[in-house]
Amino acid sequence: MNCLLCNSIINDIPRWRDILTFNIPINMELCDFCLSRFQTIESRNICLRCMGNSNQSICGNCIMWEKTENILVNHKSIFKYNLQMKEYFRTYKFMGDVELSRLFDNELEKFKKQLDFDIATFVPNARSHYDYRGFDHVFEMYNRVFKLECMLEKNDIEDFQSRKSFKERVSTAQSFTVKQNQISENSKILLIDDIYTSGRTITHAQKALNKAGYKKILTFSLVRS
Ligand SMILES: [Zn+2]
Ligand SMILES: [Zn+2]
Repeated sequence: MNCLLCNSIINDIPRWRDILTFNIPINMELCDFCLSRFQTIESRNICLRCMGNSNQSICGNCIMWEKTENILVNHKSIFKYNLQMKEYFRTYKFMGDVELSRLFDNELEKFKKQLDFDIATFVPNARSHYDYRGFDHVFEMYNRVFKLECMLEKNDIEDFQSRKSFKERVSTAQSFTVKQNQISENSKILLIDDIYTSGRTITHAQKALNKAGYKKILTFSLVRS
């Protein structure tokens, strides 16, 4: 088997430490070297709600979301947005290498056990992005592990997001609608995105779900920038 990132051969004999901890890998998409270049989030100096860097127990962003949108952020992530992660998303998302969607299956499978939810759903791409890329990069990344329900639709109104200032971005009207579905309002929903930055996208998706009656929501992204 070859590493999906650097193409070096992966030895598929289980490693001793994995055998000793009964932590035998489910898949072997990444070699040890490439895996070691991704950086997991440590539990020191982070916001208790969003896992972002913070000297306070609750960061300014999370306080703002509570004040302006009445959202109590409850977010989990695994990795930091470092250079290796940036390079991964460049190849996967922008160059459209769909094979790379399964790179983190093993890590996601392990982390899933820590999350308490009934139904998992995701922040969808806008239609225009889907048409351009040919796949929804968030859906492809998580569906194998989380069996995603398609509950949300993104309205195609806000391109050039990155050209806006932080203040403009957080105040932009939300752009999600909840689709007709059979899911009970009492379900614990896990709402998933690829990267959490200001929390704006996921907060607005969460608000749309709240409005449709879903109040028990935990959010998750592979990466916290
Ligand atoms: Zn590698
Ligand atoms: Zn926070």
